[in-house]
Amino acid sequence: SAASLALTLTACGQSGEGGSEEGKGEDSKGATIGIAMPTKSSERWIADGNYVKKELEGKGYKTTLVYGEDDPDQQVSQIENLITQGVKALIVAAIDNKSMNNVVQQAKDADIPVISYDRLILGTENVDYYASFDNEKVGELQGNYILEKLGLKDGSEKGPFNIELFAGSNDDNNTGYFFQGAMNVLKPFIDDKKLVVRSKQTALNQVTTLRWDGGTAQKRMDDILTSAYKSERVDAVLSPYDGISIGILSALKSDDYGSKSKPLPIVTGQDAELASVKSIIADEQSMTVYKDTRKLAKVSADMVDALLNDKKPEVNDEKSYDNGAKVVPAYLLDPVAVDKANYQKVVIDSGYLKASDLK
Ligand code: BGC
Repeated sequence: SAASLALTLTACGQSGEGGSEEGKGEDSKGATIGIAMPTKSSERWIADGNYVKKELEGKGYKTTLVYGEDDPDQQVSQIENLITQGVKALIVAAIDNKSMNNVVQQAKDADIPVISYDRLILGTENVDYYASFDNEKVGELQGNYILEKLGLKDGSEKGPFNIELFAGSNDDNNTGYFFQGAMNVLKPFIDDKKLVVRSKQTALNQVTTLRWDGGTAQKRMDDILTSAYKSERVDAVLSPYDGISIGILSALKSDDYGSKSKPLPIVTGQDAELASVKSIIADEQSMTVYKDTRKLAKVSADMVDALLNDKKPEVNDEKSYDNGAKVVPAYLLDPVAVDKANYQKVVIDSGYLKASDLK
């Protein structure tokens, strides 16, 4: 119908006007931004993708959103395609933080800025900005929660307690930060023998969970319960992510934890995913770390908008995140510990989850 309108206008002798209007309209629709997310297997990334899209579209950009289904090669070729399609900027939450070097070089060569989203891309100068949360603080919140609930915070002579440690995927740069944060607060108690890791698996490379997979964590917890807890009970489990927590809880429940005589240990988590908030309400998982992905989406969309308008994006941290090739300027948001006592206020009243979804 635009074509027939143009014809009509031509017939009226006004084709010049109509034609140039049409052209301007095309331009003002804005550039396309490529968004590469790691997986749809976890709610948080679905929410992230949708929020980033919404923020950018609200600023007049078009978007192409792709999910890598936890396969680093697939994600790299998706990003190559985005570059070929002519996106003007990239927002990338990497699956494997070390797999991106070639593809971000291609972006650089095509003059496409790259925002590292939530997870820092490593080993390359071709990352312009980083938008994330204070990742070390995430771990500290988890560790401190365990100490508090075991009563180890008030200096009273409690314990020793048994604890097991789980970390995230070893190819995700955040994994080390989360674990480091937790160990900052837990290690003194482990050294003091107030906390005992019966499996003896305390080094990061002994406790990682490839691709953050809940089933993998469940299997490891099963094995630990069989080998190290024949006559002992586990009192706390450090878990970095809700999907892992649910796996750990399944292993515990199949070993009769959660029955009257054998209470569940304290189990931490992260992301305030629906299943875990329900689990918290049901007194199974103890806590989660809430990270408002709406804010993260806004920060990263603002960064893109600034870069494409020759402005300097707002950052609040220019020292913490060295990716091995450079210190990447970052904007870090604040994570919040959530349990049964405050989930209503933090997660529901803020509109992040709907009360009706928790029924
Ligand atoms: C994110 C966490 C998430 C984990 C698993 C990490 O990079 O920061 O929020 O729990 O990936 O998806």
